[in-house]
Amino acid sequence: MSVGRKSLSSHRRIVIKIGSALLVDRGTGLKTRWLDAVCTDIAALKAKGTEVLVVSSGAIAMGRTVLNLPTGALKLEESQAAAAVGQIALARAWSESLSRDNIVAGQILLTLGDTEERRRYLNARATLKQLMKMGAVPIINENDTVATSEIRYGDNDRLAARVATMAGADLLVLLSDIDGLYTAPPHIDPQAQFLSDIAEITPEIEAMAGGAASELSRGGMRTKIDAGKIATAAGCAMIIASGKTDHPLRAIEDGARSSWFAPSVTPVNARKTWIAGHLQAIGALRVDAGAETALRSGKSLLPAGVREVGGQFHRGDTVAIVGADGREIARGLASYDADEARQIAGRKSGEIESILGYAGRAAMVHRDDLVMTGHGQTEAMKVREDIHAG
Ligand code: GLU
Repeated sequence: MSVGRKSLSSHRRIVIKIGSALLVDRGTGLKTRWLDAVCTDIAALKAKGTEVLVVSSGAIAMGRTVLNLPTGALKLEESQAAAAVGQIALARAWSESLSRDNIVAGQILLTLGDTEERRRYLNARATLKQLMKMGAVPIINENDTVATSEIRYGDNDRLAARVATMAGADLLVLLSDIDGLYTAPPHIDPQAQFLSDIAEITPEIEAMAGGAASELSRGGMRTKIDAGKIATAAGCAMIIASGKTDHPLRAIEDGARSSWFAPSVTPVNARKTWIAGHLQAIGALRVDAGAETALRSGKSLLPAGVREVGGQFHRGDTVAIVGADGREIARGLASYDADEARQIAGRKSGEIESILGYAGRAAMVHRDDLVMTGHGQTEAMKVREDIHAG
């Protein structure tokens, strides 16, 4: 075991994310024996004093099986219906399986707004905390029956990372059909090397993640690395491990191969964690080099440093702050609506009152509402489109 890496049971609170393919077999449906084995592992962790939360995929896959739907892509309303049928079966299976070890399960279905809007986030967090206080295991999934394609997490890797930060977990375990991170996709590149310890998610690590998702699960390595960024920034470690064996958690304890992502040594505070973990920036602010330097030294973003305003956002919405080259450098909550932001962009703070007719905040994004991110190229491209659309 490498420096910093600890056993599962020495963690205080663990979020375990389980991929669809582990739980559901195309032909035979739910893999009950495997589920029972995982629940036994969970019971063992709980007996040692570790709190456990589960993010379980499999609603859509399960619904497909129950409804006997053909293979291939489903239309949005078909996957919503499949999720409705599958989720009820999935929750029941978890509840029954955990009850064999005298553990009570509680179902939580989240939509994107439950983590992106501060008030709803605090509310969902309170429910999670209460369930854990009662010794129950929350079984969490996206509320796929009402999620539309624009307003959804879309993958449970990032959802699980959001849950981990929301619950104040110190470890996130992603169980799927791959045992960890490789320098290249191992099924394509025979030279691919396994990486067991990742001290920091650098651009090189991000580049290794590539794309690719299997038919049953939407997340590939890309979303796992995104999850890692959200979790580790909040001081939560992450493990990617194979769930293909029975008792996958016990196997990790016994030294099965897995990739471990170290938590950031300087995690940002809870409020900033919430800001940094936002999955969707509603707008974008392109700033000049001077403003970028100021941001990097911990200052607020003033209107004078804003070159361009993209998107239609309201005061309090999350905006991406991008540098002159279009790369995202920070995220924050806007102090102004987009239309006002356009009027005061490039102007001195002292001019705000005469331009808008009222004395607003001096900063476009205040330093308390701002966190440096440095997302990868994909994210930056999205922001670019935003700016052009805006
Ligand atoms: N929420 C989806 C489901 O339960 C799974 C999403 C994913 O595989 O990441 O079917």
